[in-house]
Amino acid sequence: ATSARSSLTIGLIPADGIGREVIPAAKEAILAVQSELPPVKFIDLLAGWDTFTRTGTALPSETVQILKDECDCALFGSVSSPSRKVAGYSSPIVALRKELDLYANIRPVVSVSADTTAPPAVDLIVVRENTECLYVKEETLTQTERGKEARATRLITERASTRIGKIAFELAKARPRKLLHIIHKSNVLSVTDGLFRESVRAVPAASDGQFDQVDIQEQLVDSAVYRLFREPEIFDVMVAPNLYGDIISDAAAALVGSLGVIPSINAGDDFVMGEPVHGSAPDIAGKGIANPIASIRSAALMLRHLGYTSPADKIDEAVNETLAPAQVLTADLGGKSSTSQVTAHVMGLLQKKY
Ligand code: ATP
Ligand code: MG
Repeated sequence: ATSARSSLTIGLIPADGIGREVIPAAKEAILAVQSELPPVKFIDLLAGWDTFTRTGTALPSETVQILKDECDCALFGSVSSPSRKVAGYSSPIVALRKELDLYANIRPVVSVSADTTAPPAVDLIVVRENTECLYVKEETLTQTERGKEARATRLITERASTRIGKIAFELAKARPRKLLHIIHKSNVLSVTDGLFRESVRAVPAASDGQFDQVDIQEQLVDSAVYRLFREPEIFDVMVAPNLYGDIISDAAAALVGSLGVIPSINAGDDFVMGEPVHGSAPDIAGKGIANPIASIRSAALMLRHLGYTSPADKIDEAVNETLAPAQVLTADLGGKSSTSQVTAHVMGLLQKKY
C-alpha cells in the first residue's frame, strides 16, 4: 500500500496544554525524514477545550471533514478536560475515534538502557480494542427497596474481536519473537471474554497460513498484570478487550518511567492517528519543559503503521541515542533541558542518518 501513495497529508491537532508544545516536535521529526516519504503536506486543525470555550464545540465539523476528505493520517496532542461536567462539552478524542472508526489503540512500551547494543529489558506492545466492552457506556441506576442498584452493559462482538485480533497478529508477525498473548478472564466471564478469546484464536485459520509462525499464548488478566510487574520481558504483543487493555497499557507505561516518553496510535482500516499517551499536563503547560519524546515516537509509530519502516526506524534510533546517554533530557526524566533543546538534539542525530 505504501508505494501507491503519491502524497502524504497529515492533520495536526495539537489541541490543549502541552499538546501545543510537543506536536511541533513530531512535525519536525517527519520533516527530517521526508526524503523517504512521498511529498508531505500538513494541515493545522482545531479541537479541544480551548476550541470549545471559544466556539462552543470541542470538535468542529470542519476538522472531522478535512480529516476524512483530505488527510491520510493525523497527529493529536492532548485535551484538557474540565474538572466538573460542562453542558455541551464532550471529549474530542473519543468522538474522533468514533468518527474515523479507529478501533485499535496500539501502545508500544520499550525500556532504554545505557548500552544501546543490549536488547531492551521491556519491549512489548499493548493492543487494546477501542470501541466496545464496558466502554459502550450503557449504564443504568435504579432505586430498589434495598437501595440503589447500578448496572453496566458489556458488549463484545465477533466482528470487533476478530479485527483487533488481526491487527495484533500482524504486529506479532512483524516482530522478532512473534509472540501473542491474548488477555482475558474467560474462566469467570465465559460468554463475553469467551467470545473475545475464541474470535482472536480463530484469526490464523481464516488467514491462509500467514500467521502460522505466531506463537499464541493466553493469560488471565489478573495474572497478566502480576507477571507484567514481575517479569515484563516475557511479553511481546498483548491483545485485550477495551477495559483490560486500558488498565494494562497504563500499568505497562509505569514500567519505563515517565509518561512523557510513551507513544500510541489509534488505528482503523482507513486511517491512523498518532497520540502521545500523556494528557495536557496543566501543571507544566506553557513552561517549555514538556518532554517531546512521546510525540516524536508517536510520529514514528504512525509512519511505521503506514508502511514507512525505514524513516520510522531512524526516528526511533535518534530517540534512543538521546535517551541512552541521558545528557539531554527534560525534567520528568531528571534532566534540565527544555522541550526545544531535546527536540533539537533528536533532530541533530536524525539529520546525521541522511
Ligand atoms: P489531563 O487531565 O489532561 O490528563 P493530567 O493532570 O492528568 O492532565 P497528565 O498529562 O496526564 O496530566 O500528566 C500526569 C503527570 O505527568 C503530570 O504531573 C505531568 O506534568 C506529567 N507529564 C505528562 N506528560 C508529560 C510530558 N510530556 N513531559 C513532562 N511531564 C509530563
Ligand atoms: Mg491524565
